[in-house]
Amino acid sequence: MKGLSYVQKTAIPYLLLLVIVLAGIGFTTSLFFERFVLTSWKEELTTEASLISEQLDEQLLNLDASYDLSRQVLKFSEITGDRVTLILADGTVIAESDHDLVTMENHLQRPEVQAAINGKIEPTIRLSTTMHQRYIYVAAAIYDGKVAIGVIRLAKSLALYDATIARFRLILYLVAGCSAMIALLLIFMQSSKKFNPLRKISEEIYTMSEVGELKTIVGVDRKDEIGLVVSAHNSLVEKINFQIQTLQNEQTKLSAILSNMTDGVILVNADGIVTLINTSAQRLFNVIRQTTDGVSLIEVVRQHQIVELWKQTLQSGKTQSATIQTSLDKDNIQVIASILGPVLPGEVLLLFQDLTLLRKLETVRKDFISNISHELRTPLASLKALTETLQNGALHDPAVSNRFLLQMDEEIDNLTQIVQELLELSKIESGRVPLEKKRTSAHEIVSRPVERMKLQAERAGITLETILPAELPNLDVDLTKIHQVFMNLIHNAIKFTPPGGRISVAAQLQTDSVVFSIADSGTGILPNDLKRVFERFYKSDRSRSGGGTGLGLSISRHIVEIHDGKIWAESTPGEGSTFHFSIPITSGNDNKNS
Ligand code: ADP
Repeated sequence: MKGLSYVQKTAIPYLLLLVIVLAGIGFTTSLFFERFVLTSWKEELTTEASLISEQLDEQLLNLDASYDLSRQVLKFSEITGDRVTLILADGTVIAESDHDLVTMENHLQRPEVQAAINGKIEPTIRLSTTMHQRYIYVAAAIYDGKVAIGVIRLAKSLALYDATIARFRLILYLVAGCSAMIALLLIFMQSSKKFNPLRKISEEIYTMSEVGELKTIVGVDRKDEIGLVVSAHNSLVEKINFQIQTLQNEQTKLSAILSNMTDGVILVNADGIVTLINTSAQRLFNVIRQTTDGVSLIEVVRQHQIVELWKQTLQSGKTQSATIQTSLDKDNIQVIASILGPVLPGEVLLLFQDLTLLRKLETVRKDFISNISHELRTPLASLKALTETLQNGALHDPAVSNRFLLQMDEEIDNLTQIVQELLELSKIESGRVPLEKKRTSAHEIVSRPVERMKLQAERAGITLETILPAELPNLDVDLTKIHQVFMNLIHNAIKFTPPGGRISVAAQLQTDSVVFSIADSGTGILPNDLKRVFERFYKSDRSRSGGGTGLGLSISRHIVEIHDGKIWAESTPGEGSTFHFSIPITSGNDNKNS
């Protein structure tokens, strides 16, 4: 029974019951027939044999007319419908209705004949050796006074009865066989996948578990127990799917937060194995492997200090923090280790905050303050010196006091310029300056500032030239501001180019922008300075003593950037510098201008 399906296990007892019931019906029916039919036949034959024996006693005494006896026997046979045999007391058959007398043997030993001679009527059923079929034999003695002189035997053939019973049994066996076959067929069909909904359901559940996708079972529309199982399964699947969806949403949110965090996050279990690491932490520790499953904390961070911090947190159960240096080029990293407690027992969350940017901002701020104080101190010190000299008597010397006043005026101009440029820079940086863009031809953008600076260049003994391609697109720019960029760059070029030098202003058409370049044959900029010239107040040492606030390039960079362009510089010290800036060509700008 082990390998059988549930349906087969349930159906087999019923099948056995069916076979037992049919066999029982067959058995009791044949028993009934045996009892009822044969008993009544036996009784009937007994009565008939008794009656015939009484009639025959006289005739048998006059044994001269044997012919008559045969006829008589035939007559009895016709009336009763049975086989009738007349036997003498010595067993000799003297008359027979159904068989030739000559071939008939002595019948003395036949049990019914023996019983009759002994005065009893005992019906027996046996196979006739003469007729080769079953008969009920009943024999009654014929008396002469008290002496039995012969026996009249009646025999009823059971051939028809036996054939009927045999046919009945055959029909019964056929019905039983067919029922069993039909039952087997039904069992087979019930257990097959197509007709067995339970099997269908279980197979669908198996497939789901293999594919890893929970689906509701469709197409089983039943009102019985199977229908209940299916609807219970479907409602469970819907609930689980809803929960999975909710969990997936939560997980997506969490991983989006984790991967977009600038701080590094590492989750470590009680065995020191990393169970979670976000992109920032991977970047911080140069983790290039695809998966960190089963990797220990030391393998990931390669920093003994961090492992120590994790151990301390685990032991103390309290949040710990430390500042470490992950590599030579990376500055400081602040690590905060906190225990997650009952939510995730034994797990420690390590948070890595990169302090590099913070430090850099701090340095920029310090530099800015130091630069601005330096820039302000020079004119202020000079003003102070001039006023003190005037107070100490120079005021009374008109020639000296006039010169001093002119110098003071110059210093005040310097201070005003610094303050104005600072104000402008702060306005541009805070985005408070609205751009008044106008479609302008590239030639117009270049020509005006070049024209304005020409005289200044000539005075300094420098040639200022313009090299522009014939066809350039119109650009959307705030003309005043872009002119300021040109003026700043040309002004710097004049300032750092010795007399006899050359400055060329050029423009080049790129795929999606126009790149303007201001190249000079001046002093050039050292590589270290080149990296920082666009910073506020930055001046190379060589130019520190000269005029200029160090804000010009910073303002220019902001103006270019608010036009969505880029600014950069190239320089070879001693040979000259080239400053480039790009202005994007806005869509629909097909209007070429020469
Ligand atoms: P400044 O007002 O001092 O010129 P800028 O911001 O315009 O301030 O320039 C910053 C520094 O960049 C200058 O002090 C100078 O050292 C360097 N610089 C700018 N343009 C040139 C150039 N054409 N040649 C050499 N050095 C330059």
